[in-house]
Amino acid sequence: SGELEGLVALVTGGASGIGAAVAARLQADGARVAVLDLNPGAAAEGQLGVACDVGDDASVRAAVDRVVEELGGLDVVVNNAGIGAAGTVADNDDDEWHRVLDVNVVGMVRVTRAALPHLRASTAPAVVNTSSIAATAGLPQRALYSASKGAVLALTRAMAADHVREGIRVNCVNPGTADTPWVQRLLDAAEDPAAERTALEARQPHGRLVSAEEVADAVAYLASPRSRSTTGTSIAVDGGMQEL
Ligand code: NAD
Repeated sequence: SGELEGLVALVTGGASGIGAAVAARLQADGARVAVLDLNPGAAAEGQLGVACDVGDDASVRAAVDRVVEELGGLDVVVNNAGIGAAGTVADNDDDEWHRVLDVNVVGMVRVTRAALPHLRASTAPAVVNTSSIAATAGLPQRALYSASKGAVLALTRAMAADHVREGIRVNCVNPGTADTPWVQRLLDAAEDPAAERTALEARQPHGRLVSAEEVADAVAYLASPRSRSTTGTSIAVDGGMQEL
């Protein structure tokens, strides 16, 4: 705690789920926090909520400008906004592929590109991207989503290589099934949401869903100078789903 004192962090998709837990954690660690979200009204007290669609470059640039202006700089970027897609390659058309890749992958590029000049001016710059177990697990019925998160993993490593000499670190977290409004929406679509939740928990190696706070803890580590010698890597927060 207090290790992000004096730093400014922005969290995309910070109005819900994992992003909201990350924003709260970085704030508790002393950062001034901006939440960039389609739904900025849901930003918590003490956070700067900024309306932003990561799918729109002008919107991203305006939002980053506003963060820097109002919070006095930018040190930590958490690229967390993301959307889901179900199906095999037979199921999603080109428009759907473009839409999901645009938000989940190009969205991170837009935010990082706008943030770069400010990160270069920071004494403790860090970028943390939210990938997923889907990047590497070979999940059925998740072709498009998995491709988008695999791209996040590759992008993380490439960006880390490009900016390591500038002192800008880039890492990612790979959550397993995390208990967020997103997953609750999927459960609510089932005939018996409570039974579906129990079945989902039983499929996790450690017998429960990952909490958003557990993911936020890993993000906070990668965002802080505690991880100053760590770049281009990923931390799985998945109860062993990928590993066991
Ligand atoms: P969530 O739906 O609860 O929250 C996502 C937030 O992102 C929402 O506030 C939404 O308004 C915002 N958002 C969506 N599109 C946006 C856009 N174009 N511009 C700006 N903001 C936008 O989801 P979550 O479960 O907290 O997931 C957050 C991230 O974690 C996503 O990248 C997701 O792929 C990843 N993830 C989630 C899980 C899980 O099990 N929940 C597992 C692995 C990875």
